[in-house]
Amino acid sequence: MITKPKSARYNRAVSRLRQIVNSGEEILRASWIKMTHPCGKSGCRCAKGKKYWHINWYIRQSRNGKQRMKSVPLEYVKVLKVKTEAYKEVRELLAVIGDEYWDMFNK
Ligand SMILES: [Zn+2]
Repeated sequence: MITKPKSARYNRAVSRLRQIVNSGEEILRASWIKMTHPCGKSGCRCAKGKKYWHINWYIRQSRNGKQRMKSVPLEYVKVLKVKTEAYKEVRELLAVIGDEYWDMFNK
């Protein structure tokens, strides 16, 4: 007879996963890339050196073996980071749940 894992670790992961899904939180599978560049205008602070260069943020996702990249306007970085963090957490929770099942079969 196969039942659910009984560990506290499993229960914690399932209830957190349920909480995230039920909250309607948006989940974005992507990783972040930060690039810096000088704009080339004389008189801009970026001309003073690399540490003053302008920052561009991108999200990257691999799909069907291909990498896709999208530039993210600065004003969207914060709100999208919440969604990519949610993805990371959900993935970790699924790994915990999957491991707990695996361990149960191997007892
Ligand atoms: Zn500049």
